[in-house]
Parts: sequence; C-alpha cells; structure tokens
Amino acid sequence: MIATAHSLQQLNTRPRSERAVTPPPAPAEVHRHGIMSDSHGRTIRDLRISITDRCNFRCVYCMDPDVQFAPRSELLTRHEIIRLARIAEALGVRKIRLTGGEPTVHPELLEIISGIRRATSVELAMITNGSLLTRERLRAWKGAGLDRITVSLDSLRPDRFAMLTRAAGSPATVLAGIEAAIAEGVTPLKVNAVLMRGVNDDEAADLASLARVYGVEVRFIEYMPLDSARAWDDAKWVSASQTRAQIERVFPLVSAPSEDRSSTARLFEFADGRAGRIGFISSVSDPFCGACSRLRLTADGKIRPCLFSSAEWDVLSVLRCGAGDDELRAFFIDASWTKQAGHGMHSDEFHQPARSMSAIGG
Ligand code: SAM
Ligand code: SF4
Repeated sequence: MIATAHSLQQLNTRPRSERAVTPPPAPAEVHRHGIMSDSHGRTIRDLRISITDRCNFRCVYCMDPDVQFAPRSELLTRHEIIRLARIAEALGVRKIRLTGGEPTVHPELLEIISGIRRATSVELAMITNGSLLTRERLRAWKGAGLDRITVSLDSLRPDRFAMLTRAAGSPATVLAGIEAAIAEGVTPLKVNAVLMRGVNDDEAADLASLARVYGVEVRFIEYMPLDSARAWDDAKWVSASQTRAQIERVFPLVSAPSEDRSSTARLFEFADGRAGRIGFISSVSDPFCGACSRLRLTADGKIRPCLFSSAEWDVLSVLRCGAGDDELRAFFIDASWTKQAGHGMHSDEFHQPARSMSAIGG
C-alpha cells in the first residue's frame, strides 16, 4: 500500500504496552515441519540479533540523550547469543545480522563473531555506526568469521553529523572506517542513511555519491516512528520517491535486477554505468511486509516477530530456566508463527511500539 499524506497524519505515535510472555502454540504440523514460518505463508530466513542496548551515539531519530540502559544481568550473554544463533540456523535461518545499540561497543564482539561462526554456517553481517572501525579490528572480525558490514551515515557535514548523533564523532571517522572495511575485504559493504526533512534531506545526492566513490550500495531508509522521543511526524518524513527525485537531478538511475525477493531495498544502478548502487527502503510509504523473512532478537532476550510488534516473546526467561534445545526450538517456532501480516502503520489501530529502534536493533 502506498501511503497518502492523510493516512500518515493520522499515525498514532502513542505507545501501547507490550507483552513479553510465552507465545501461543503453533499448529502441530508446523512443529513437525521443523522450520520457522508464520501463519501468512512466509518462512523465516533472516535473524537480527541485538547484542547490546548500549551505544556511543544518541541519534535524534533513535535514542534518548538520557537513555536508561538495562542492567547487564538482564542482557543475553555471549554464550546465550551463540546458542540461540545455532538453534535459529537449525530452524532455517540463513543470515544473521548483529546489531544494537552499537555492536562495536560490546566488549566480547570478537568472541561472539567467532562463536557464531563455529556454531553455524550462516552469512554473518553486522550493522554499525562506523565510529569505532579500525583496520586491526576489522581484520580480526573478518578472521573470526564476519562476512560483511553495513555502516550508517546520515550526513557528510561535521556540524550536522554532531547535531544528528549528539556525539563526539565525525563523518571523516566514519568514511575512514568504510575505507578500512573495504581494504580488509569486509564486503560487500552497504551504507545506510536516514533523511529528515529540513535536517539533512538536502544531502541525498552527496550521500548517493558515496556509492560511486566506493563502488558500494547506499540505501536510504525512510524515517520510521521508532524514535525514543516520539517526535516522529510526517512533516519531518521524506519519502523514498522524493529522495530518488533529488538524487536523479544529479545522478540519473536505472532499475537494478533484484537477486533477493525478500530484500528490503528497491535497488537502482547509475544510468552512466558507474559502479555502485542506490537502494530505497520505503518502510513507511510502500512497506515490503509481504516478502518479509525476518525475526528479531533483542539484547534483553525477547523475540520480536516484527519491528512494530505489539507482542514480544521472552526467550531469555526460558533459557535461564534451564530449557533444552528442543524446548527452545519449539519456542522459536511458536514465536515466529505469531508474526503479523504487516506493520499496520496506515491503520487506525497503529500504535508506536514502546521500544525505540535502538532497543529493537533495526
Ligand atoms: N548502531 C548501529 C547503527 O546505527 O547502524 C546499529 C543499530 S541502528 C538501531 C540500525 C539502523 O536503524 C541504523 O541504520 C539506523 O539509522 C536505523 N534507524 C534508527 N532509528 C531509525 C528510525 N527512527 N527510522 C529509520 N531508521 C532508523
Ligand atoms: Fe546508536 Fe545506531 Fe541508534 Fe544511532 S541509530 S543512537 S548509532 S543505535
């Protein structure tokens, strides 16, 4: 469904309280099948694991400046993360993406990567704000089994970058991190950008030019009502089609063939044949829920079937009660069966989730 201005203005950003309990049982035949699927005919192939709720940035569209982090004892440990990754792979997951908060601030990131690599043969990716990337760290992560990274970067202007991230970083540091990742072969590399009207939407073409400079994919994600400040409104929101029009004034684009039906991004190449691709993730204006193959695991051990789920399932408690692998497998199958058909952002029933993006993982 394509959003209209009217449907977006009606969007309800008030939170609805979220339940964190045990999922209802999926039908017996789904358990017999032994892979994670949902009641809308989709199969789960992609797990996003938030390994920490901590972050060294406080991006305006994501995290409160005075955010309260969960006590460490309430977060998944390294061993729990690795065990759940192994179980997810046995249930059909083919890609795992480590996220956060900021995954590179986790003191045991290297051990998490190597543990997942030893336990599984999934494609292993990570998304990072790019502020803590050095060649040494990237080499070690790659050696431990990390396949690729996505780096988030919303502005090339130091003053704006500081205002957006509310942190002492710089675009130059992130660009150096991107170059280091390419040099160490942690590729294919993607760059994610979120544009906000009147803040950084005039940088669409400048950010797109990174795709040409580095031969990478730059993806524009529509700003979603997942900000901790609950300040989302459609006046700040920029649609994928508006962003594309801005870019095409400088760099004409042509549709790129899509290899992955469940991909979140609509992909384009440069009409002049230059390397690099542009992707648009139109989660608000034209959601891709019908082909969604994702499941999310939060840093505090909750399974979220959808970014906008109003229910989440407490696998941490089950783990810490001594559950065996069979019980955990059944829990994952039940949890994924509850995946909602779509995020429902354009329905009157929509409520912004209680968790912000940083507490879900993106
Ligand atoms: N800290 C890492 C980072 O920034 O890449 C990983 C976690 S972050 C929550 C994952 C992705 O979510 C980032 O690309 C970020 O830009 C995006 N994001 C955060 N809040 C968002 C929002 N309200 N709307 C759209 N994307 C958002
Ligand atoms: Fe941290 Fe990433 Fe959220 Fe920014 S978007 S506050 S870097 S978790």
